[in-house]
Order: sequence, then C-alpha cells, then structure tokens
Amino acid sequence: MVRIGKRDKDYQRKVAAERVGILLRRAREVLREDEELARRYVYLAVRVARKHQVKLGKRKYTFCRRCFVPWTPETVKVRLVTRPYPTVVYRCLRCGAEYRIPYVREKKGEGVGVSNPNGQA
Ligand SMILES: [Zn+2]
Repeated sequence: MVRIGKRDKDYQRKVAAERVGILLRRAREVLREDEELARRYVYLAVRVARKHQVKLGKRKYTFCRRCFVPWTPETVKVRLVTRPYPTVVYRCLRCGAEYRIPYVREKKGEGVGVSNPNGQA
C-alpha cells in the first residue's frame, strides 16, 4: 500500500519549502532573546533546503552562510562599493565573513542587488 512515488516526492518538497520559510521566520523572531537558537534555526533551514533542493532565492542574503546568524542592521554591515565594479558588500559583524554581490550585471528575474544603478550610491 505504501508507495513512494513522484507525488510523495513533490509533497515532501512542498513541506520542506514550508519548513524552510517557517525556520527562517522563527530565526528572526528569536534572535533578540537567543542568538544561538536563531543560528540553529537558520542552520536547519539551510540543511532542509539543501536536502530537498528548495531554492532559497533572495533569502540567500538574509543570513550569514558561515555562522548562520540572521542578518539585521545589528548583525551585518552593508556597503556599496563602486571601485573595481559596482558591488554590494555584506560584512557579517559576528564572524567577519564578507559577501560581494555585483549589481550592474544582475541577471533578469534574479531579484538580487540594486535594480536602479543610477540612483544614489
Ligand atoms: Zn557570520
């Protein structure tokens, strides 16, 4: 009676996507009271997403991928750098990791970075 078919896989993935969302949301909620727990939630969200191939999309840039702390104005410093080429630099204030995301040659549909490079720097 119990068959693991494509439908189950789809269902599992749907549930996984839901859980990733919940975990990331909870991580932000508990960050103020318990940073370790917040990191744990992010870590679990990343693991669930990887296992079930759930795309994080824009949410990739809402937490540190090295120490898993959710990013808020208190945990990350965001700078716009134009020198070699226009880039948004995220610097994690907890572990010091830096992530650079170029924003001029952004791909269509991939809503990452600044979409209006002519705006103020
Ligand atoms: Zn970090």
